[in-house]
Amino acid sequence: MASKLNPKTKNIEFGGAPGALAISVGLPILTIVLNQMVRPDYFIKGWFSNFEFAQLWNGIKSSRYYFTRYDLWTYYTAWHLGLAALATILPGKKMNGVELRDGTSLPYKINGIAMSAALFLILAVRWQLTQGQLPELQFLYDNHVDLCIVTILYAFLLSVYVYVTSFFPLLGKNGHNTKERILALGGNTGNPIYDWFIGRELNPRLGPLDIKLFCELRPGMLLWLLINLSCLHHQYLKTGELNNALLVVNLLQGFYIFDGILNEEGCLTMMDITTDGFGYMLAFGDLSLVPFTYSLQARYLSVSPITLTNYQLATIFGFMVTGFYIFHKSNMQKSLFRQGKLPHLNSIATKRGTKLLCDGWWAKSQHINYFGDWLISLSWCLTTWFQTPLTYYYSLYFATLLLHRQSRDEHKCREKYQESWEEYERNVPYKIVPYIY
Ligand code: NDP
Repeated sequence: MASKLNPKTKNIEFGGAPGALAISVGLPILTIVLNQMVRPDYFIKGWFSNFEFAQLWNGIKSSRYYFTRYDLWTYYTAWHLGLAALATILPGKKMNGVELRDGTSLPYKINGIAMSAALFLILAVRWQLTQGQLPELQFLYDNHVDLCIVTILYAFLLSVYVYVTSFFPLLGKNGHNTKERILALGGNTGNPIYDWFIGRELNPRLGPLDIKLFCELRPGMLLWLLINLSCLHHQYLKTGELNNALLVVNLLQGFYIFDGILNEEGCLTMMDITTDGFGYMLAFGDLSLVPFTYSLQARYLSVSPITLTNYQLATIFGFMVTGFYIFHKSNMQKSLFRQGKLPHLNSIATKRGTKLLCDGWWAKSQHINYFGDWLISLSWCLTTWFQTPLTYYYSLYFATLLLHRQSRDEHKCREKYQESWEEYERNVPYKIVPYIY
């Protein structure tokens, strides 16, 4: 259904509905398969020398089993709703998002610091009460693959819910004084499979809670942190010692997670929040893919621990520090520039009234921040050193994600800025990696 506020989608991605369906089935299978290859009773060694097909579904039960694991559903729903309640109740800074097509902007509550403090407090109290046993972390470790499947089903149900509610009129009124919801420009084709996958509504909300921002930063990212901790805890209970590789991957990824959560206001201007709808693609990515594939290195080290030498540690920290420096400084520079705080830097004026920065970090490549982020991903994979290429899945996947993101952003900016973007491309020819790509 097209209207002035919600034009029909013209630009179809991922090969349309067949592609969306293939990804919706394929990526969850890949997530399960990766985790099936890193289990306490079976894990890939070296270049897949011990690979066995049968192991990929060993222990996997019928769909009925997963729908009736009431304990897992109860714990996971409590986790999701508990975090949603904390996100709503805990105090935070009130901020408005970018201007929407109806001329309004949505209010957000930024309370990542209070949220992180609450989680740490709960963990510390539980550690004290259970004398370090933390049965919840043990449960998480022991039910890893089953929980992964439950989160996939949960993401499916959540995406069906937001798709269906996108057809309901708003309770209040939008900026055009009608009850029409603002749909994502990319998710209004009229094909139910495609729109469900891409996300039909731009910012689905439940009362004050913005479902998209919440899912992006809370249940998945924090579950990733807990899974990593459960691996460290498991090793500690088993050996009485803290394995240094596991400790390092926990520290590096924990730092990245908190950096993301603490800088949540930066997310308000990200493509995911400003442009993408919330559908199965984001729901699955946030709730399943992030916690269950980004934690693959920690899982691997918990079943195949290694002790890193000083040289190895220096290499890992070298990649992390360099990557984070580029990632943080470049994002910060763009943010300050857009706030008008760096007027001396060279830029290209656009017809839209905004400027494209082509100086400093942003003279090196069009997405120098992606390059920094990718170096960070490599540092995490290196914590498993060269035991198996399997744990390097993350850097490979992330490179694909960033390349796809760059091409989507390029398409958007070319349409938005036209000749100014072409001038920008002449000034800054490299897309991500300076002098290479
Ligand atoms: P960018 O931070 O590169 O932002 C792109 C947008 O910035 C463009 O659409 C345009 O927006 C504006 N822009 C582009 N070039 C310029 C310029 N030269 N000067 C001024 N404005 C410009 O991309 P993302 O939002 O995709 O990513 C943000 C961060 O999040 C990155 O560091 C990325 O690595 C990270 N990330 C991490 C993920 C993970 O899973 N770990 C996933 C995705 C991203 P406008 O229309 O406003 O002009």
